[in-house]
Amino acid sequence: AEYEEKYLLMTPMSRELFERARRVLPGGVVYATRFMEPYPVYISRAKGSKVVDVDGNGYDDYWMGHGTHILGHSPSFIVEAVNRVSMNGTHLGFENPYAVEYAELLTKIIPSVEMVRFCNSGTEANMYAVRLARAYTKRRYVIKIEGGWHGGLDQLHTAVTPPFTGPESAGLPEDFTKYTISVPFNDLDAMERALKSYDVAAIIMEPVPGAGGCIEPLDGYLKGVRDLADRYGALLIFDEVITGFRLALGGAQEYFGVYPDITVLGKIVGGGYPGAGAFGGRREYMELLDHIKYPDPRARSFHGGTFTGNLITITAGYTMIRYLYENRHLYERFNNMWRDVARRLDRICEENNRICWITNVGSMIGIHFTSRKPRDIGEAYRLRLCSEIYKALHLYMRINRILYLSEKMPHLMPSMVHTEEQANRFVDVFRGFVEDI
Ligand code: PLP
Repeated sequence: AEYEEKYLLMTPMSRELFERARRVLPGGVVYATRFMEPYPVYISRAKGSKVVDVDGNGYDDYWMGHGTHILGHSPSFIVEAVNRVSMNGTHLGFENPYAVEYAELLTKIIPSVEMVRFCNSGTEANMYAVRLARAYTKRRYVIKIEGGWHGGLDQLHTAVTPPFTGPESAGLPEDFTKYTISVPFNDLDAMERALKSYDVAAIIMEPVPGAGGCIEPLDGYLKGVRDLADRYGALLIFDEVITGFRLALGGAQEYFGVYPDITVLGKIVGGGYPGAGAFGGRREYMELLDHIKYPDPRARSFHGGTFTGNLITITAGYTMIRYLYENRHLYERFNNMWRDVARRLDRICEENNRICWITNVGSMIGIHFTSRKPRDIGEAYRLRLCSEIYKALHLYMRINRILYLSEKMPHLMPSMVHTEEQANRFVDVFRGFVEDI
């Protein structure tokens, strides 16, 4: 109540906007994930690691456009590149040299990707990746991980939250998810049982689940999944929409040294601009999209769309990834800095009766108020001490000018431009909360 009182005092314009928004936007928001109790802050501008709300409050941002802005909000050199290219057109609707150049760069950077296709979102890229795996294997079933989030596409919109069965949305018939089997993360036995029982085209997984609790893969788990996929003739799809260009330039596959058959990219791949998505893999798979090789549309796997390969997203993405490619040394410092923050946060939990646990891989950090460290999303929910505490933490952080999402499953995705000073402040504010409750 005390935190809420402070929040109400500092955000009158957000409150007013929420009241207006409720009349025209369901739930008063453009996306339910962005809601916060009692109403969200409405952000009007952002630069670097900071966002500013309509009341003029500045916050350190640990959400960074859903994990998109690894170089901070609106890096000037990217905005300038986009402004320059848009003098030639924003969306040509024809083949263009910019997409060729970007595809060449991506295939140089991501170990398992020899050919790539661009999409308009991570959701879309996952849809096409699964379709491609089915076309290649001529099988139907897909295994996903409980808590895994691949976007709102019908067939994968299942087993995201407890009880991890059935469609996660009204208006989604059971039939639409009937070829999707879900298994817990970090459980090779369950994975093998599913592979034995079904005719599996693909295993689709985030190598480190993001929205699914930011949980660390146990030693040998990803390699174990790779081996199982090979043994049972299923393709392995890594959804690297969050981990791509974040854990390492070449994503989680470079970080862990485990390589998928198909890689899905999103967020960072668009350089901070909308319409960000891509999927790629070895020539052998990707050629199934080739209309010259497969003139019969029924023989090839379809992919396409109006805004595919538009100049804005391609230029922004290319400019960002080119910069990261030329400055790949940045990753070591970046990962070390946030590993250190994670260790310090975990020490605070330890010093305070272990009311919380920190999960961490590189710059991805999860916060769990659980009775022990969760090994999968099921545990992250089952072992919760109290769910109200997450809302209280969020409110406390907000009144201390720190923002992240989601309110119910905190996971931090800082950028390379966050400073040590900001990191220290995060640790101090977190300590303040843990000691206060
Ligand atoms: N895959 C992962 C791992 C994600 O985190 C997300 C979005 O948060 C998606 C897919 C969906 O991407 P998009 O929101 O761009 O459709």
